[in-house]
Amino acid sequence: MLSQRALDAFRSTLGPDRVFDDTPTLALYAHDETPHHVEPDAVLFPASHDHVLALARIAFEHHIALTPRGAGSGNVGGALPSRGSVVVSFECMRRVLELDPHNRFIVVESGVVTEDIDRIARSVGLFYPPDPGSSAYCRIGGNLAMNAAGPHAVKYGVTRDFVLGLRAVTGSGQEIRTGCRTTTGVTGYDLTRLLVGSEGTLALITEATLKLLPAPEAIASLRVCYASNRAALDAVSRVMHQAVVPCALEFMDHRSIEAIRPTGAANDLPPGTRALLMVEADGVTQDLPRQIAALEQALNGEGLLEMRSAFAQEDIKRLWAARKSLSLAVKRIAPLKMNEDVVVPVSRLADFVDFIDQTAHTHQLAVVSFGHAGNGNLHINFMVHPEDKDEMTRAHIALEALMQQVLELGGTLSGEHGIGTEKRRFISMEIDPDTLALMRSIKHLFDPHQLLNPGKIFPD
Ligand SMILES: Cc1cc2nc3c(=O)[nH]c(=O)nc-3n(C[C@H](O)[C@H](O)[C@H](O)COP(=O)(O)OP(=O)(O)OC[C@H]3O[C@@H](n4cnc5c(N)ncnc54)[C@H](O)[C@@H]3O)c2cc1C
Repeated sequence: MLSQRALDAFRSTLGPDRVFDDTPTLALYAHDETPHHVEPDAVLFPASHDHVLALARIAFEHHIALTPRGAGSGNVGGALPSRGSVVVSFECMRRVLELDPHNRFIVVESGVVTEDIDRIARSVGLFYPPDPGSSAYCRIGGNLAMNAAGPHAVKYGVTRDFVLGLRAVTGSGQEIRTGCRTTTGVTGYDLTRLLVGSEGTLALITEATLKLLPAPEAIASLRVCYASNRAALDAVSRVMHQAVVPCALEFMDHRSIEAIRPTGAANDLPPGTRALLMVEADGVTQDLPRQIAALEQALNGEGLLEMRSAFAQEDIKRLWAARKSLSLAVKRIAPLKMNEDVVVPVSRLADFVDFIDQTAHTHQLAVVSFGHAGNGNLHINFMVHPEDKDEMTRAHIALEALMQQVLELGGTLSGEHGIGTEKRRFISMEIDPDTLALMRSIKHLFDPHQLLNPGKIFPD
């Protein structure tokens, strides 16, 4: 329970309008995208790095656990408050501190919305490639903490690949700066890469220096329909084994296609479509026809039913309609989505999706699979009814088997969503005890009182 003394200390340091402990606010910050609900003891809204530094020092002195939070759009309980903790919401830290087009970087506070970074970069002919599906509202601090990715990752990489340096505050209230402002630099340990993906358990990230790239002049898209999952995923393997790297390579399985049928978004797919690839290329306008021709050649193979290309904005939007309608359509199958984001090597995707089909059949579950096939990163959605205990038990058994299979195929448990609370029971399947112990020791150095985002990543 948060003491009145600690609450007063937060209020006098941040100002009374930045510290809330009223019931509606606590309820609003009690959840993320998972179905769980845990109310924090208070919610803080710092407006600057100095505010964060001050609040971390108060938390250290009073032994108060802190739950950092961006937009709360994470799917693994990362921003879910632990009992008795205080939420640190970065929503008010939305300043762009510097934009340097010549050196191609931008310095932002942690609460800046991801899409805004890209929009600002494009105003000077540059762009910020990481593009999570939630980029219209998620915050860069959340992206940094989860090492977020998106369709562009296949060509450009993930959030981690665009971070030059960070400013942050550790669990003991120590200010740290990591990295540099240049695209090369090997001075000291690479703490930037350590903090990115640390899920708010090592430090509160307050500012980031992000690398930008020249914006592509134009894009073109392909929608490719196949008679089977295997035909589509064999094509993914062929695409990744030739010279033209697409800037998106997205897969939808047959259950995804069934899910969007009621919305009408599948009406223009050819009969017999059981899998779909969305492929995008970008670059210099004159070069796009060459890229598309090379991709078409790689995509052509057994089981191909139809390939449509689009170069104009409106046509591209029409081609993507099926993929864009998916998230909402899937929610109609069952009230709860158990959403996994596992990764396997691209060449094993077809075997993996066969395994998912078998598992769904054996355990009589509705399982919808789609995602960033070019990275081998699939979103496997178990659509379940929480009140059906038998179905939930079958789903948990199937989930464990799925994780095992991912590791046997040489993959990893999470491609972009992270571990949070939801997957920590699986982490020991992938990370050996010595490595996990070393990670705990690192956590102890950054956060000696175990105040930063307790209950996340590590198994009990
Ligand atoms: C519709 C939808 C689509 C999505 N698509 C994608 C996708 O394509 N790719 C993808 O990677 N993810 C995706 N996600 C998941 C989610 O949006 C990402 O994980 C995103 O990075 C979370 O950002 P956020 O601001 O909402 O962070 P939150 O959910 O608030 O927090 C996420 C984690 O970051 C920590 N954190 C937040 N801010 C800080 C900070 N300043 N310092 C330290 N730790 C901090 C939190 O404690 C928590 O552990 C999607 C989610 C939804 C709902």
